[in-house]
Amino acid sequence: MALKLFNTLSRSAQEFVPLDPAGKRVGLYCCGPTVYDFAHIGNWRTFIFGDLVRRYLEFKGFSVLHVMNITDVDDKIIKKVRESNLPLREFTGTFESAFFDDLKALNCLLPHQTPRATEHIPEIVSLIEKLLARGLAYKTPDGSAYFSIEKYRGSGSQYGQLVKLNFDEMRVGERVRTDEYAKEAVADFALWKARVPEDGQVFWPSPWGPGRPGWHIECSAMSMALLGPSFDLHLGGEDLMFPHHEDEIAQSEGAALQPQGQRFVKYWLHGAHLLVEGKKMSKSLGNFFTLRDLLAKGFTGREIRYLLLTARYRETFNFTLEGLQGAHTALLRLDDCLKKLRELAGDTIATDHPALLNQFSDSLDDDLNIAGAWGAIFDWVRETNKKLAENALDASNAAAALAAWEKLDSVLGVGSPPEVAVPPDIATLLEARQAARKAKDFKRADAIRDELKAKGWTIEDTPKGARVKRL
Ligand SMILES: [Zn+2]
Repeated sequence: MALKLFNTLSRSAQEFVPLDPAGKRVGLYCCGPTVYDFAHIGNWRTFIFGDLVRRYLEFKGFSVLHVMNITDVDDKIIKKVRESNLPLREFTGTFESAFFDDLKALNCLLPHQTPRATEHIPEIVSLIEKLLARGLAYKTPDGSAYFSIEKYRGSGSQYGQLVKLNFDEMRVGERVRTDEYAKEAVADFALWKARVPEDGQVFWPSPWGPGRPGWHIECSAMSMALLGPSFDLHLGGEDLMFPHHEDEIAQSEGAALQPQGQRFVKYWLHGAHLLVEGKKMSKSLGNFFTLRDLLAKGFTGREIRYLLLTARYRETFNFTLEGLQGAHTALLRLDDCLKKLRELAGDTIATDHPALLNQFSDSLDDDLNIAGAWGAIFDWVRETNKKLAENALDASNAAAALAAWEKLDSVLGVGSPPEVAVPPDIATLLEARQAARKAKDFKRADAIRDELKAKGWTIEDTPKGARVKRL
């Protein structure tokens, strides 16, 4: 089955066909973090969505070049740099490394390229120069440069491709300097912001005076520098659709670098909002969580990743602490089944793949219907447990099932749980219990079982002997 993705540009699910004539290489760009704070769980939903898209494309045999920018200069960063009195790089470096730690904790694959905006100033300046030369941008007396919506529309281009804009009802023609602006206004936006005293040492030279880039131009310049002027997939949260992504299109297509008949981006994918405990996340409501907050509550990155991966990306998802408890239980069920299969399979080499793989890819081909994929996986767990209980599986069945699971997990990335080492005192008790059983001292054996239970361990008697497991 062919992969279909919902393209915001066409507002429909379209078959995914990469620009590469050989149908192999895929360019994927995800808007990355603005490193002025720790990323929150809503941000992580989007980054995990990006990770899923990349992993699934690789599963389908594509060769993906995954780029995620690091916004390390913008209004919010400059404000915080001013407040902290730290040099820019030192301030952003802390949050940048925290971001990569979190990415790892959530088992997201590291994007192949993670360009920093501050290291692409020449590309940004050159793109602005092209827009000025084409008459789509203008300079202001203070040494800033702005993108002209009116000129862009006048050139026959459409502003408002991802969102429908009603120019009659919107305030048009105002100019905004800030990176984020009101959704009810269509405004000329800053490409280059002339240095002001509040910027401190955060500025770079440019042909039209010292200053810094606007946020939107950073993504246009870096994505085109690394993926070419026309690439396959651009992802982000739906809150970035307007104005950020709309402005990215205007800048990138305005510079007219694309080959004849090609767009800046072929497929735009947007992830839906995340609610937390049924409400929009906010610090005042107490439902605002960074990944670190949740890890501190005792949840694992694996459980959080699993929960964020249970709903399809285009659906609003309600993230709850109760849901995280449920994730813990669901993963235990899965782990238990896999463990039994591993014991049964031993060293047997898999010869075939069961139908599970097909069900999995049929679901994900349908615009990444991951809820359907999980449904198939847990049906399979139930069936497998039944067959295991009936002794209806042999080693080669088990090996085939495990091989299929490994392939699925290359997409899901929930992996195996970390092996829990058995402490020496627990191991000694287990040995004593086995010795008691051998000596037919069942009273003593039961007493040891109770003692282990009190210490948080349970005994499982398996064909290969007894072992202990964490309760
Ligand atoms: Zn962006």
